[in-house]
Amino acid sequence: MKTIKVSVVTPDGPVYEADVEMVSAKAKSGELGVLPGHIPMVAPLEIGAVRLKKGNETELIAVSGGFLEVRPDRVTILAQAAERAEDIDVARAKAAKERAERRLQAKQDDIDFKRAELALRRAINRLNVAQRKF
Ligand code: ATP
Repeated sequence: MKTIKVSVVTPDGPVYEADVEMVSAKAKSGELGVLPGHIPMVAPLEIGAVRLKKGNETELIAVSGGFLEVRPDRVTILAQAAERAEDIDVARAKAAKERAERRLQAKQDDIDFKRAELALRRAINRLNVAQRKF
């Protein structure tokens, strides 16, 4: 089976690096699948899951937006924040979700609303990835 090198990098450092058979991610333009030999490209990412297929295993990583870059020999995912499923603190994500929901219920200005909405999406994404709901 052909593989491609993938790395997931955040401002805090690398989160994942491996040779995989397929990378799937939620791009702004829709779900994206990258196999070895894919043409070079850059795609902005949504808050979502990155799936890395390796043999019978699929590794899940929660990413909070960023970019996916495909080069001939590798895929790089640059994300504001990224956590492997097993590293997600579920209690923290639940608390973040409840906090964001409370803020969305309180009538506030648009900027706070947008901020709370994004925080809610990050928290739900982390909970889904931790529960492998993808
Ligand atoms: P919180 O309100 O809990 O901080 P957040 O969505 O505002 O959540 P971010 O700003 O996206 O958090 O991330 C800040 C740092 O904390 C990043 O390094 C991110 O990987 C990490 N992080 C955030 N939430 C979790 C979590 N539930 N489990 C593990 N790491 C997390």
